[in-house]
Amino acid sequence: MNKIPVTKSSMPPFDEYVDKIKSIWDNVWLTNNGPLHQELEDKLKKYLKVRNLTLFSNGHLALMMALKSLNLKGEVITTPFTFASTTHAIVQNGLIPVFCDIDPNTYTIDANKIEELITDKTTAIVAVHVYGNVCDLEKIENIAEKHNLKVIYDSAHAFGVEVDGKAIGIYGDINMFSLHATKVFHTIEGGLLSYKDPSLKLKLDKLKNFGIQDQETIDEIGINSKMNEFQAAMGLCNLKYVNKEIKKRKKIVEYYNANLKNIGGIKLYSYQHNVKPNYIYFPILVDKEKFGIDRDELLELLKKNNIYARKYFYPLTCDFDCYKGLYKGDVKIARMIAKNVLTLPLYADLKKNEVIKICDIIRSVKK
Ligand SMILES: *Cc1c(COP(=O)(O)O)cnc(C)c1O
Repeated sequence: MNKIPVTKSSMPPFDEYVDKIKSIWDNVWLTNNGPLHQELEDKLKKYLKVRNLTLFSNGHLALMMALKSLNLKGEVITTPFTFASTTHAIVQNGLIPVFCDIDPNTYTIDANKIEELITDKTTAIVAVHVYGNVCDLEKIENIAEKHNLKVIYDSAHAFGVEVDGKAIGIYGDINMFSLHATKVFHTIEGGLLSYKDPSLKLKLDKLKNFGIQDQETIDEIGINSKMNEFQAAMGLCNLKYVNKEIKKRKKIVEYYNANLKNIGGIKLYSYQHNVKPNYIYFPILVDKEKFGIDRDELLELLKKNNIYARKYFYPLTCDFDCYKGLYKGDVKIARMIAKNVLTLPLYADLKKNEVIKICDIIRSVKK
């Protein structure tokens, strides 16, 4: 049997991409807000149902510029159950992360534990939507309003997700979506911000281009994080297929759920009843006591069968070598989840028989 990777990028038909990039040769406009970039911004605004949107070269720099654009100081309450990017973006802005524990069902920040972490130095909450489930939006935004805090969501996992029929990108002050090759929708590398305040558009456009207002006026300490035309072309091609991709992923998640239910010690992940998810990952939780082997042993067993699952997220960002012991946070639940969680292979073209093989191996442990 062929190797089954944990993820595989979706690719548009080759000819469609070639066709799309032909115009780049006609215009000789490679980057700096080119026509494909403009077209993609417009189309994504419609797809994500948001009013204000800015594209970036990747999600991490988008998140860094999001925090910078709000002029935050002091402490930021955040979750350690995330990808390196979230915590790095906070620290790279000179801010202090204060780690809050997570909810044991959705693995998103536990909104009931945020208020006790607020001090007179707190200026923002940086929360992460996890695996296509969403944070407790109402509670977070009520706390933010009461204490005058900004809210930034890392929505890297939440492209296209809706809550109660509303687009996820309209919540908080700013949302970051990653458009990396491994995400549900991608532009090879890429990212975008959606935001409430339309006046941020000018600022974000400047920040991603060295802070340049015009040739002689540079009034922000910006960076270079502009999306180029080849990335935008990939996005325009992929956008046509994204709904189909999500439908295929949904089917695979259903096969998994049907084949893995009722295995003692394997907890399946469920979506909130009011969320329309994008099926970006398929995480399971392994309880060694009941299942017989632990998460790491299951990972190895799958690897022996040419199946590559991933410990994601592990370790917690607060436990990274570069952060260990530096910042506050009582994160017992997050640590337990990180120790036992395993994301199984999931991508649109994963075959039904491959899913069944993976499930059979997991089931065989109990026999
Ligand atoms: C992928 C991801 C990012 C980073 O996005 P890039 O586009 O790869 O820079 C940030 N946060 C989370 C939770 C992610 O999964």
